[in-house]
Amino acid sequence: MLKKSHHTPKTTRGERVLAEVAQAAGLRDLRWHDATLAGTPDLAAPAERVALFFHGCFWHAHEHCSCARVPRTNRPFWERKFEANRARDRRVVAELERKGWRVIALWECGVLDHTVEELAEELRGLLDGGAVYGEIWSYERRPRWQLSC
Ligand SMILES: [Zn+2]
Repeated sequence: MLKKSHHTPKTTRGERVLAEVAQAAGLRDLRWHDATLAGTPDLAAPAERVALFFHGCFWHAHEHCSCARVPRTNRPFWERKFEANRARDRRVVAELERKGWRVIALWECGVLDHTVEELAEELRGLLDGGAVYGEIWSYERRPRWQLSC
């Protein structure tokens, strides 16, 4: 069962996929948006001390990703914004790790090309392999028109 936090913000489609993946990977007692943790992880599994984030490739400026193109207009503005987002993500990971949490980020592009079962297997593999930090994304390179991100 998923425990909803008291403010229960609406979850996005990506966050719902993340929850399915986490449950399929065997993580239990998942908590949404625990604001007592750095970065308010989308999901946290306190028993295993695993914090999970769903990252939209555009807003989190996923490097080398087909889903993360800098808009043509106002480039300096977007580049500054994306760099700030990336820096914040790095700070959040560092702070969670300092407190003994493991952090896994599921990228939007990873969801496009993989089933929940495949993503869960990858997540389980990262956790069982002792990863302190891990990312799940798509290795597919494909033209923009084939993407739904
Ligand atoms: Zn991506």
